[in-house]
Amino acid sequence: MSIQLDFSKQTVLVVGGTSGINRRVAEMFAEQGAQVAVASRDPKKVADTVKKLHALGAEAMGFSADVRDADAIDEGIKSVHQQYGEFDVLVSGAAGNFPALAENLTPNGFKSVVDIDLRGTFHVMHAAFPYLKKPGASLINISAPQATIPVMAQIHVAAAKAGVDVITRNLALEWGRHGIRINSVVPGPIADTEGMSRVAPTDEAMEQTARSVPLGRLGTGDDIGNACLFLASDLASYISGAILPVDGAWATNGLGGMSDHLATLVEA
Ligand code: NAP
Repeated sequence: MSIQLDFSKQTVLVVGGTSGINRRVAEMFAEQGAQVAVASRDPKKVADTVKKLHALGAEAMGFSADVRDADAIDEGIKSVHQQYGEFDVLVSGAAGNFPALAENLTPNGFKSVVDIDLRGTFHVMHAAFPYLKKPGASLINISAPQATIPVMAQIHVAAAKAGVDVITRNLALEWGRHGIRINSVVPGPIADTEGMSRVAPTDEAMEQTARSVPLGRLGTGDDIGNACLFLASDLASYISGAILPVDGAWATNGLGGMSDHLATLVEA
């Protein structure tokens, strides 16, 4: 079930939009009439996603680039602007994750996640800024609960996503004067995603996770897509600088047994 909002004549760019949660977000904007551009590293994933967006009846394009490469992101975003003009909505959610205790995490492993999640987010925001329609543009960063809740074996993700939320709040301050709104969406455990399969790789772990969510279920891509549609719409015209959990109240439960579960996983 998704909320119905009219995004026709709007341009939406979803970076990291070729799989999992972000791909569903891109599809849901397409279903509401937006023309949608997606970006990620793998050209095949980009092509497959554009094909799916076309099948939904949307105008769509994509480019492949690594968010760690500021020049490549700049060039890709310019190519979207050349084809579609200014952007109305930007969703930035490229990320990588793997569990590792701090003492076993190599400096390069820490750097890699910070480079993708945090520096990548800055590269995307910085490159897109000149093309954001103002006022009324909406930027949404896809964060993670590790940013505020310490979890074993996730120090790299925690540091990177905490930085992403800092970017959200600082840009809400700096770019608010242009009429741009910027918010973070913080997904809980989302079913059938790469992210969850990394941290809960067995059916048992997945079921335990679902039970630890106060609302009693895993989230869906639609849950996150609905939050993004809302934040990008006029319904949210006075919401900026918010860090919005979409997690069935998982955070109120300290993410259930996720921390112990991850410790067991990496020590096994
Ligand atoms: P996913 O399926 O692995 O999607 C990640 C996307 O980012 C893919 O499109 C991937 O495509 C792209 N990407 C990865 N590294 C990149 C790079 N260096 N440059 C450009 N693109 C890159 O992930 P997911 O599990 O759905 O998670 C999506 C977002 O939600 C992430 O920001 C994650 O932190 C957040 N989140 C997820 C969960 C969950 O339950 N899954 C919970 C909380 C937060 P390529 O491989 O083609 O680059």
